[in-house]
Amino acid sequence: MRTPLVAGNWKMYTTPSTAAELAARIKLDTVNVDFADIAVFPPYICIAAVAEALKGSNIEIGAQDIFWEPEGAYTGAISARMIAESGCARVLVGHSERRTYFGETDEKVLKKTVAALSEGLKPIVCIGETLEQREAGITETILDTQLKDGIGALKNIDALTIAYEPVWAIGTGKTATPDQADEAHKYIRGLIAGRWGDNVSRNIRILYGGSVKPDNARSLWEREDIDGFLVGGASLKADSFRDIVNSVK
Ligand code: PEP
Repeated sequence: MRTPLVAGNWKMYTTPSTAAELAARIKLDTVNVDFADIAVFPPYICIAAVAEALKGSNIEIGAQDIFWEPEGAYTGAISARMIAESGCARVLVGHSERRTYFGETDEKVLKKTVAALSEGLKPIVCIGETLEQREAGITETILDTQLKDGIGALKNIDALTIAYEPVWAIGTGKTATPDQADEAHKYIRGLIAGRWGDNVSRNIRILYGGSVKPDNARSLWEREDIDGFLVGGASLKADSFRDIVNSVK
């Protein structure tokens, strides 16, 4: 049995004060949750305030990105060590918004994942196809390439979570149907089995992300290969995030 994980990506929303308020609400709303792991990914500048607000809870904090070097003359960059010392247990790597707007490639995904692991962080590696790629019938090829080039060189992926996030469903209000999501998750699990073995593939969590809302979460969650969610927009409202968490019960 894989424990479900529900992760909230706050993107470039909230300030330290509003992030602390949101975190405090989520902490209160999920105090009785013992059936799922929960994580929130605030902007860097809000991490300290969120860590303070979440003291005494099991909710994990993650960063939305890192640079792969441990330190150096890299103006504006943040390292794995910095976020680990700030209270983060997790980090998102390869989110489609990083790929689209910031030139994230699979090669960079690998370097960032290695850097995260070296600091004891648990990366959530995001993969997914664009609408053009889906319509061209190359979804599986894209997932294959992103997985192979992004993490294929790693010997051990026990600390990793994979997020399948079809780009066409992120922030668009269009959700993959349970059948579409399940098909992609099964394909990804098969790729993992092929590279790392059945045991690893049985244990790794594969999250679905892309316009998850309280009203569509349950039907996605019912599919056996969907192990939870990476939630963007709906994680910015404590009550909708709580309802999504409760849907994986
Ligand atoms: C995300 O940011 O990873 C995401 C899935 O966003 P949204 O839920 O808003 O589509």
